[in-house]
Amino acid sequence: MAIDVKANLDVVNRRVAVACQRVGRNPAEIRLIAVTKAFGPEAVEAAIAAGIGDIGENKVQEAREKKASVRSVAQWHFIGHLQSNKVKDAVKLFDTIQTLDSIPLATRVAKAAANEGVRLQVLIQVNLGKEAQKSGVPVAEVQPLVKAIAADMPELKISGLMTLPPHLPPEELRPYFKRLRELRDELRVGVESCHELSMGMSEDFEVAIEEGATMIRLGRALFGARK
Ligand SMILES: *Cc1c(COP(=O)(O)O)cnc(C)c1O
Repeated sequence: MAIDVKANLDVVNRRVAVACQRVGRNPAEIRLIAVTKAFGPEAVEAAIAAGIGDIGENKVQEAREKKASVRSVAQWHFIGHLQSNKVKDAVKLFDTIQTLDSIPLATRVAKAAANEGVRLQVLIQVNLGKEAQKSGVPVAEVQPLVKAIAADMPELKISGLMTLPPHLPPEELRPYFKRLRELRDELRVGVESCHELSMGMSEDFEVAIEEGATMIRLGRALFGARK
């Protein structure tokens, strides 16, 4: 493909290192997820060839088609809104589901994982902006959801929290990222595996890293503008 993913990744890695340096973090703590939505399987191959081991997709159907023609191995993360009729397929295609946002959805995913005989990594998507149109659990419901999963759904391993904040300039997102970290810190007291913070995209990943991100989800910074 015409896009030089390796060169873009070099730039991203330098920016990650600088952001880490500002707050005394080790870049090795941060996993980069290449968001390949709207790009073809060649983008996935290029990302893996450049050394990225994690791929993010937001549509089950698109991921299924793409994955069928990808030869290289990666961890696949589902980062979109998960409809209940897509749960079975999602559990087959993805290693991690980052967007659990209700007990009914978690129950469906757990059941599908049991049928597949797998233990699935999950993140809870938190709606910090109280945006009605966005997915994610409101802050007050995070703890009950995490407790329900930890108590009743052994097929699901709670790896952490994810957020897709409102569209604001990076510096204005700092309080959102900070809030997600505080929530994670509170939850980790009871659920030790809950350590990931999936936050930060192409426009704002440096601020997210400064506030504790362990997974950054990058599309345009790696592949350029989507059509
Ligand atoms: C598209 C998308 C991203 C990546 O966005 P970029 O601005 O291209 O980096 C990250 N997270 C989610 C949930 C997305 O849908």
